[in-house]
Amino acid sequence: MGTEAATLAAEPSVPVATMAAVVKTAPGAGNVTVMRVPEPQCGPGQVKIEVAFSGICGTDLHVYHDRFRNYPPVILGHEFSGVVTEVGAGVHSLRPGDRVTVLPASAVICGSCEYCRQGYYMFCPVRRGMGHGVNGSFTRFAVVREDQVYRLPPGLSLEEGALAEPFASAVQAVEELGEFRFGDTVLISGPGAIGLLCLLLLGHRTRTIVAGTASDQVRLELAGKLGADVLVDVSREDLLAVVDRETGGRGVDVALECAGAAASVSNCLGALGKLGRYVQLGIVGAEITVPFDLLLYKQIRLWGSVGYSARTWVRVMQILGQNRLDLSRLVTHKLPLSRWREGFDLCESKQAVKVLLYYDET
Ligand SMILES: [Zn+2]
Ligand SMILES: [Zn+2]
Repeated sequence: MGTEAATLAAEPSVPVATMAAVVKTAPGAGNVTVMRVPEPQCGPGQVKIEVAFSGICGTDLHVYHDRFRNYPPVILGHEFSGVVTEVGAGVHSLRPGDRVTVLPASAVICGSCEYCRQGYYMFCPVRRGMGHGVNGSFTRFAVVREDQVYRLPPGLSLEEGALAEPFASAVQAVEELGEFRFGDTVLISGPGAIGLLCLLLLGHRTRTIVAGTASDQVRLELAGKLGADVLVDVSREDLLAVVDRETGGRGVDVALECAGAAASVSNCLGALGKLGRYVQLGIVGAEITVPFDLLLYKQIRLWGSVGYSARTWVRVMQILGQNRLDLSRLVTHKLPLSRWREGFDLCESKQAVKVLLYYDET
């Protein structure tokens, strides 16, 4: 290490290309800033991508506040699309100019545990995802393994491509768990990006009630535009009374908990009818008190849904390839990277649904 540094210092200075990046610089709350970092190098088996759009996610906010495990210094951001600029030795499935999106959760995996072998990377014991475990996408270039990269279907915009990752979380919950059936009445509790992507995916297959709180007005309004049949602001209306009215007292067939709040979990359990189905997508982040016996008395089936698997991404690409859903309808703001803080504030205050950042030199 020391020798290397000495050699570098002795040589005539070779300019190292740098780029701006939103970096978590140190552990603890805050400690996020825009700074210049070296451009990443593309090694064997790797792909270098020029980021086009990168969405701000709840996870980025959690990393900012240090409520989610992170390894500073690290570039934030993990939901992105871009264009391939370079491929490393041995990469044959991609070439420069390809428009792509990336499965960011598997940036570091062992590749050989029972979960990795099934594509369930979320459960790999050594896993580290982009944007908190390793450098992410709030910058100009990202370098990833070839197997993390998915080419965008023709006709799909780079804006939509940036939404593939959160969409994958919705696809796992709706298409692989929950056992949704045409004609079901569904409660989506929590109108954030994941909840609204579930709504988009359910479309006309189900009658859908979307519930939020007083601070969710912008998001509830968008839910209405995206086809929600009933909107409920739980600070003004009794959700269970609305559900009773809308289902003739039966209760909903499926509840999707997307808020990650105790009151929302209780509402979902209460709103479900007998033999109902429950999918937990929100992260509550604390031990909570809920009417747990309802699981038994109503004989509810419950699924936890965390992220997605490689199998989910195959389905994601099939759905996006058919171009029947317009994911870009969730994009409320597009901001240059230099205005990242404004973007974070818009998400925090729930004035935005999805904010996309694009690169600018700062
Ligand atoms: Zn995310
Ligand atoms: Zn593994």
